[in-house]
Parts: sequence; C-alpha cells; structure tokens
Amino acid sequence: MGRIDEHPTVIKVRAAAKVCSPVSLTSEALRKLCLDCLDCGADDAGLVSIDRPELDDQRADIMSFAPWTKTLLAFVCRMNREPIRSPARSVANLEFHYTGDHVNDVARRVAAGLGQMGIHRNVIHPKFGNFILLGTILIGETVAEESQPIDYNPCLECRLCVAACPVGAISTNGDFNFSACYTHNYREFMGGFVDLTEQIAASGSRNELRAKVSDSESASMWQSLSFGANYKAAYCLAVCPAGEDVIAPWLENRKQFTEETLRPLQDKAEIIYAVPGSDAAEHVQRRFPHKTLRPVRGNLNVQTIDSFLKYMSLQFQPGQSKGLDAVYHFTFTGSEKRMATVTIRDQKLQVEEGHCGKANLRITADGKTWLKFLSREANLAWALVTLRIRMLGSPLWLVRFGKCFPS
Ligand code: SF4
Repeated sequence: MGRIDEHPTVIKVRAAAKVCSPVSLTSEALRKLCLDCLDCGADDAGLVSIDRPELDDQRADIMSFAPWTKTLLAFVCRMNREPIRSPARSVANLEFHYTGDHVNDVARRVAAGLGQMGIHRNVIHPKFGNFILLGTILIGETVAEESQPIDYNPCLECRLCVAACPVGAISTNGDFNFSACYTHNYREFMGGFVDLTEQIAASGSRNELRAKVSDSESASMWQSLSFGANYKAAYCLAVCPAGEDVIAPWLENRKQFTEETLRPLQDKAEIIYAVPGSDAAEHVQRRFPHKTLRPVRGNLNVQTIDSFLKYMSLQFQPGQSKGLDAVYHFTFTGSEKRMATVTIRDQKLQVEEGHCGKANLRITADGKTWLKFLSREANLAWALVTLRIRMLGSPLWLVRFGKCFPS
C-alpha cells in the first residue's frame, strides 16, 4: 500500500483531487448547458427531468444503459425544406443524413417543450415545423426549473400528410398503421435488408432473382448500405405546412401549395412495398394505381412470446378486421409460459394478460412452435397433428385472426 501511495500517478491524481473537489451542477449551470447547445449549432433546446410522466415508457430503457441519468437535455436542429420536399427522395435522404437524425423518440421531445406531435406522428416545432431532427443528452444532475410543454399543438389538422402517404399509414381520425409505414418507408433498413437476403437465398438463378428484385432496387439498397439507409417516402414531412417559419405559402394560396408540394409526390411513378393482404396493399391499389405495388414479406419478426404479445398491435390491420368480433384465449407452454386474451372488435385490438371473458377460440401452444409457425419455419398441420398446437373452437376463427395480421 505504501508503494502505491508513492506512485507519481497516484500522487498527481490525489493532489488534483484536493484542488478540484467535485462540483455539483446547479440549475444555473444546466441552463448554461442549454445555451451552450445553441452555441454549438442546435436551433432550440430544453431540459426535462427523468421523472416526468411523459417518459414513463422510456425510463427503463434509458436507465438500463445510463443509470445515473437525472435530466435530459433535448435539442433540435433545423433541416432545409426544399430537399425534403423534392420528389427525388435521394436528395431528401441526403438532407436527413446530413442533419444527422440519431434520435427518434416523440415523447422525449414533447416532454422537453420543443414541440407537439402532429397527426403524422412527427414532432412539430412551433417555429420550424417538422423540418427538424432531434437529439438528447443524458445528464446525471437534477434541474430545479425544467422546460414546459408548449400550450398548443402546431398541427393544423389540414390532413395533407394523410393525402400524401402512399401506403395510407395515417388515418383521418389520427390512427397510425405502423407496419404499413415500416414496411415501405423503412424498406432499406434492417428488416427489408433481411428480406432481400432471404430472397437471394431462395432464388434458384440470376433470372429468378431479377424477376423479384429490379436492378434499380438493388442499386438503391447498395446506396443505403454505402451511405446510410434511405427512407423511401417520408412524404408526410415533405408536405406539412405547420410552423411559423413554414406556414406562409400555404396560408397565401392553399391550392398552389398543394399543386407544388403534394401533387408531385402523389403523381410520382414508383415502387411501393406492402405485405399482400394488408391495408397498405389495398390503399395503393385504390388510391395510387399508377404506382407499382411490390408485394413483400412483413419484416417485424418476433423472437419471443413476450414480443409477439407486445408488438401484435404494430402488425394489426384494422381494415382487414372489419366485421370481426372475437375473443381469443392463448396459453403458451414451454420455457416462456404465458396466458393472454386477444379481443378484436370494432376494428380495434386489445391484448390482456390472463384469460378474460368467453373465448371464441382457445389456443394452447408450445411457445417455440408458435414462433416457428409465425416465421413459417413450422407447418400448422404438423403442429396440430403432433399436438404442439391445440385449438378448442372453430378453426375459421384462426383464419379470421390470421387475416388481421398478414405477414
Ligand atoms: S400535414 Fe397537416 S395534419 Fe398532417 S401533421 Fe402537418 S399540419 Fe398536421
């Protein structure tokens, strides 16, 4: 112990520690951090406590990798509107990547008072509109005075985003079809890439692959892999007129704004990715027959029963559930034992723990076999014959159930 006390590094560190005793960040210092953020190029910034109720669904994730977090410093950086509105989406994507979108968590920004969520599920800043990208810095100190949410929603409820979305992901009543957006707009992110590799593996020849994937699609995927994943649409952002800096052209002449901003995106001939039998596939055929519908597999693959139950709502297709009024009791056996009730009624989905109410169909399944059935690695008939999956009730209820979750 004596020798380590005499080590030059230890002596220097201990001497420095005497001079620089730990400083606790005051709220004034945290406020200065906010200003520093603006000095560093952010266009707006706000502080929010980790305890705020708006962060309830994210706190566990944040604390799992940064358990010392007490305060979040959220900031926005403006994007240039013109490239975002260009029908050449490669230009829009350059702007997305240039501005550096690394955080996409609505509640965190709303909580920091930087904006409110629009009908299109993006944050709209009161001044800059939705032409912003957001970032967050986690801070291990509390702040006495945090930013408050703005007291109005900048969304104008004009529904241009509804009209622009090629896959109908945004409903006029404010509902959002997550899988429709994820399947098309995020085609060149992880899920779509895995699907492409599976198509390559399943193709017997070059010609067979080319019949499924055009050269331009391969080129686009290569571009995504080389320069950062491309968003295929993001048209909801392109057309949104909300925000003090953005609204003038729309206020002056709405018809002209629509002709110049919305129409080119609607008229654009392009490939639209959608899962066969989904609401998105129907929407493309009905609203945009001049666009090419490319049927693809859903890319929300679940690996656990917990994820199956948790993410069911993201794959649910309200349009396909029309007229269905049914209760399903699931009992999963094996390593992930679980009981759940799934109710589909009035085009809405409800998932509850345990068995509630009277079931139209009761399904008891070995969890691993059920997951393999979902990923098409296991055949339902084989699973039924081997009693790995058992059903009580008419199998037609399962057919109706499957229609609500096309994959
Ligand atoms: S386009 Fe209109 S309805 Fe959609 S988010 Fe923007 S302001 Fe709201």
